[in-house]
Amino acid sequence: MIRAILTDIEGTTSSLSFVKEVLFPYARARLGDFVRRRADDPQVKPLLAEVRRIAGRSLDLDGIVAQLEAWSDRDEKFPPLKALQGMIWQAGYENGDFQGHVYEDAVEKLREWKAQGLGLYVFSSGSVPAQRLLFGHTPYGDLTPLFSGFFDTRTGPKRDPQSYRKIAEAVGLPPAEILFLSDVVEELDAAREAGMATVWLVRDREVQADARHRQVRDFRQIVL
Ligand SMILES: [Mg+2]
Repeated sequence: MIRAILTDIEGTTSSLSFVKEVLFPYARARLGDFVRRRADDPQVKPLLAEVRRIAGRSLDLDGIVAQLEAWSDRDEKFPPLKALQGMIWQAGYENGDFQGHVYEDAVEKLREWKAQGLGLYVFSSGSVPAQRLLFGHTPYGDLTPLFSGFFDTRTGPKRDPQSYRKIAEAVGLPPAEILFLSDVVEELDAAREAGMATVWLVRDREVQADARHRQVRDFRQIVL
């Protein structure tokens, strides 16, 4: 009996191209300027210290910017980079420079599941503030009230079963009562190892013949 849904964002509720072609270039273009302008901001300062700690060497402001830009170009998921991107995106959403992309089928089913009393949760490599921004500014309005909780890589890596055990504990349900949705098979493998049910969103890609996980093209094909 599934009592909660845990969903990925990129490639699952939302298009990969929104993140890759809209969000990332927007933040990348503004990263250096933002960090230099806000270096002493109490919200930003501890993140810059975290950059130094992860880099493992002392860096001046230019060095920090260069490090962040290099991580961004390699799509590294380090928490301080994610947090800074989230702050830059917040301004973009609030200016109306873009809206969060969510597939219509995802909106429809999430609303339906919520109405049925299921708990809805997000697990994404995007930071929790970035997740809230995306779902908070969509063409369907503010979708954040649908969700009971948001998890990011501060809980753990998406390909580590331990992350899913921690999430189940936080949700307060046995893993077997949680259905995890993702477009990435290694994430689904990790969730299954933790005991969760899984569904693989293939969207417009080819359905795999030897799939280890139930495959669907969109949320409407998901049967609980
Ligand atoms: Mg994904």
